[in-house]
Amino acid sequence: MDESKYGKRDKRGHWAPDARISYGPFFSWPPQAKVLFKWLFGFPGYFLPWNVLYAVLAILIWQFLTPSLESFSASTGFWVGVILARNIVLAILVYGGWHLWLYIWRKQGTAYKYNEKWPKDSSVFLFKNQTADNMFWTLVSGVPIWTAYEVLMLWAYASERITLVSFSDHPIGFILLFFLVPFIHEVGFYFAHRSLHWPPLYKLAHQLHHRNINPGPWSGLSMHPIEHIIYFSTILLFLIVPAHPIHMINLASRLGLAPAQGHTGFDRMQTGGDSSVDISYYAHYLHHKHFEVNYADGMVPLDKWFGSFHDGSPEAHAAMRSRIAKRHSG
Ligand SMILES: [Zn+2]
Ligand SMILES: [Zn+2]
Repeated sequence: MDESKYGKRDKRGHWAPDARISYGPFFSWPPQAKVLFKWLFGFPGYFLPWNVLYAVLAILIWQFLTPSLESFSASTGFWVGVILARNIVLAILVYGGWHLWLYIWRKQGTAYKYNEKWPKDSSVFLFKNQTADNMFWTLVSGVPIWTAYEVLMLWAYASERITLVSFSDHPIGFILLFFLVPFIHEVGFYFAHRSLHWPPLYKLAHQLHHRNINPGPWSGLSMHPIEHIIYFSTILLFLIVPAHPIHMINLASRLGLAPAQGHTGFDRMQTGGDSSVDISYYAHYLHHKHFEVNYADGMVPLDKWFGSFHDGSPEAHAAMRSRIAKRHSG
């Protein structure tokens, strides 16, 4: 395996990709049809693999792991327990799967790991152990709050308090909403996350997440309950956006599960021999390293528009430093 094919490791053991962080061409101007087409349908691209995987997961959850709306309204209490158990199992499978592969079995050692060091025991964490602390906040606070939002929405759909768009009524709108969910996810995350960096909220809640300077998969949803309430509140958008519960589940399960991949601490996953797939969330890794950059990650250039973008280059690093120095002197 040759990790230098995609990036370099410095003397201090920090690996950085050669490619600069960039947004997809969705918002670039003038539009370039060919580039946009490749970005949409390439691999990795907008659809493949992650957005399709999350959409398929939502369809499976709705079909096989969610009560029908009629039975939900008939015995809500019972179904709350079932949905909580389902989400706990999903979280253990996804967060635990990444953790097992990369951190327990260490299938690829430190290849493509941004920080060469493995997380260490530290008294800043509950139980003096980063993984145990992270699992605690994920399973005791994160998953129940995710479940509460999901149950509230299912109840609203079941009792016809909000508009439900079915496939047979609006097939095009139904499919388009699947395209929209990744954008809602990202924009919602940016504003929730940005507000959590408001100093009083940061001290009260978000600093708990930021104790993970060298994050692992379980760090993703390791947040203070106040942060969980803010973070998952994007789901409430479906109170005003007419959709099907499957779209709400698509968003909720992304919010609940995607942070595992967002915090693996690895840029690529080896798939055998010299081949590897891109699992990069380098923008968010830099956020954990430098705190005041890259509040969002992905397709919508919100950080660029609001002046907090760090693309991984020395120039962006210098710009960040001068921004911080200016604020502290002003
Ligand atoms: Zn994070
Ligand atoms: Zn943050």
